[in-house]
Amino acid sequence: GARGMASTTRWATKTSAPSMVYIAGEEMTNYACELITKDWIEPYFTTEKWEHFDMSCTNRDDTDDKVLHDAVAAGSRIGAIFKEPTITPTAEQKEEFGLKNALGSPNGAMRRGWNGITISRDTIHIDGVELGFKKPLLTTFHPLKGDPILVDSRDLEDDHNVVVVYHNPLDNVEDLAHHFFSRCLEAEVVPYVVTKKTVFKWQEGFWAIHKKVFDENYKEAFAAKGLLDNTGGELQHLISDAATMQIIRWTGGNFGMSAHNYDGDMLTDEVAQVHRSPGFITSNLIGKRDDGAMIKEYEASHGTVSDLWHAHLRGEETSLNPLGLVEAMIGSMQHAAKLELDADPSTQENYDRVMTWTVTLRKAMHNTFRYGQGTRDMSGPDGYTTEDFIKKVAWRLDR
Ligand code: NAD
Repeated sequence: GARGMASTTRWATKTSAPSMVYIAGEEMTNYACELITKDWIEPYFTTEKWEHFDMSCTNRDDTDDKVLHDAVAAGSRIGAIFKEPTITPTAEQKEEFGLKNALGSPNGAMRRGWNGITISRDTIHIDGVELGFKKPLLTTFHPLKGDPILVDSRDLEDDHNVVVVYHNPLDNVEDLAHHFFSRCLEAEVVPYVVTKKTVFKWQEGFWAIHKKVFDENYKEAFAAKGLLDNTGGELQHLISDAATMQIIRWTGGNFGMSAHNYDGDMLTDEVAQVHRSPGFITSNLIGKRDDGAMIKEYEASHGTVSDLWHAHLRGEETSLNPLGLVEAMIGSMQHAAKLELDADPSTQENYDRVMTWTVTLRKAMHNTFRYGQGTRDMSGPDGYTTEDFIKKVAWRLDR
């Protein structure tokens, strides 16, 4: 607008967005990300340094998954990745989409390719707006890694058997534990380690490593902040069933959880419900390149929001909450700018512009929610549609 940012000196010229990998998915979140890119990003940035990968099922199939391989390689090289939610096709979807290949999970391939140490998930908070949890919450889970090895062999006498093999190397758990406890300490929340080690005996090591790292490095600092006052002065273990129940009781927040991959998925879905909507949860994958450099991938914790996509295709109104998606965009652009600055100090001005713009964007989104103009998961049936919310934030961003 006339008094808009685009016309002020700060935004008079477009900034060149630092190198980043952009992984596109499909359905509703892909549609929303296209609108966001057009209305929120392109007025302020040129994105010629972004490397784009189309991770839709059909493109993966057409390229015999070369696209996934290339995206993982680009992610290792660049170190900052934004990823839209993607579909891992079920057997029915393979038929439905006419795919020739059975495609595995791209997230699994990325975790392996980037030596994924941990995925951290946080609740998003908006000042002055009450969501579910009152204090930030963290749930962490660690991925599988390594080649399959023969751990067991036995005869199955009939078809009524399912064999499940877990390959669960413990070599990442120490890094995960440090990452988890540092984040809990910084956020000043009480750490819990969650497993089902009573039944799955192999999970004992996950707990034991956490406990050792905690006792040797963090116990005193947590105690000094009074964060162990209600835990008998010790790190607590929670059986996953108990954790499930506590999440709906501990609505005051003030806790972090470290869990195995699958438990972490379930627990964060439950957190998403208590905290209003999956749109208010972030998800970051932190990995390590072979030379030790950190790789950071940012995504929303939710999926492609298929139900809204089908409603959209039927011509109905939808209301997608884009906060988780956009926090991922903000995180990856900030990380990309930091990597660019580390490599080349002359990019300070670009770095500053990315920081200013991302902070402004976050404020524009939060204000839109705060003024009761949020999406329907927050504001009820009178809330904004997917498109109107994006337009409203674009307008606020341009002021
Ligand atoms: P989903 O997270 O897409 O949706 C679950 C429910 O939450 C739906 O009712 C949806 O409308 C609602 N919801 C989720 N995010 C929302 C938002 N931002 N705003 C408003 N409402 C929101 O999970 P699903 O329906 O089980 O899965 C759909 C597809 O996504 C599947 O193909 C699945 O494989 C894929 N998926 C991908 C990822 C990923 O790429 N990381 C994660 C989970 C699911």
